[in-house]
Amino acid sequence: MKSTHILFLGAPGSGKGTQCKKLQDELKVPHLSTGDLLREGIEEKKAPCLQAKQYMDNGSLVPDELMIAIFQERLSMPDCQLGFILDGFPRTLPQAQSLDHLLQKLMLPLNCAIYLAVPDNVLIERLSGRLSCSRPSCGAVYHIKTAPPKRPGICNLCGSELKQRTDDTGEVVAERLKVYKKQTEPLIDYYGKRGILRQINGNRSQIEIYMDIMKTLQSYEQDSHQRIESITP
Ligand code: AMP
Repeated sequence: MKSTHILFLGAPGSGKGTQCKKLQDELKVPHLSTGDLLREGIEEKKAPCLQAKQYMDNGSLVPDELMIAIFQERLSMPDCQLGFILDGFPRTLPQAQSLDHLLQKLMLPLNCAIYLAVPDNVLIERLSGRLSCSRPSCGAVYHIKTAPPKRPGICNLCGSELKQRTDDTGEVVAERLKVYKKQTEPLIDYYGKRGILRQINGNRSQIEIYMDIMKTLQSYEQDSHQRIESITP
């Protein structure tokens, strides 16, 4: 598959992380999750990520300048040359514009933006029952009802303790959804106008969503071929 420079849009709890992890194995390109990047950086006591922590703890967004600097360093690494799956970046219009500039500078394309649409009540149910692996570099995610671990409280993949993320609780969840609607939702229009947005119903089983993403990426590629053929004399 040639469409390997992809980004995911969707509210917290829409399933971006879960789908991106699967897709990374299939496409063999790195999955860049800014949330994971920040949590790993905090564990490693990296100064910019420690600065970001106060914003994450109360459910607001890390300021653009700081977030762009952290993300830029990661995207510039050589493993992103052949492709990437962006999860959680961009989250604001200034971030989307800075991504455009950065991709231009690195001479990399952006093939497709996949938007996972999920109703609010489902997002709240998913976030409040979510259990995450306490080892940030593992990042596995479970749900107490719909996707429990094999052994209670223990990660199936690495054996570390599972915890509820501090920002997956009560008021912080409500704040994150509010921030998403105000600051991130406008990006649906931003990529829609560019003709690279594909909306997928994210309120289904993980496997159904995954199959739909694969089908969407394949049909997106066919469309691009047809566009190229129609302009080639
Ligand atoms: P996530 O794991 O994607 O839900 O991100 C957790 C938290 O990290 C968010 O609530 C924000 O505080 C912060 N964060 C992640 N990505 C970004 C971003 N692109 N811009 C600003 N803040 C971010």
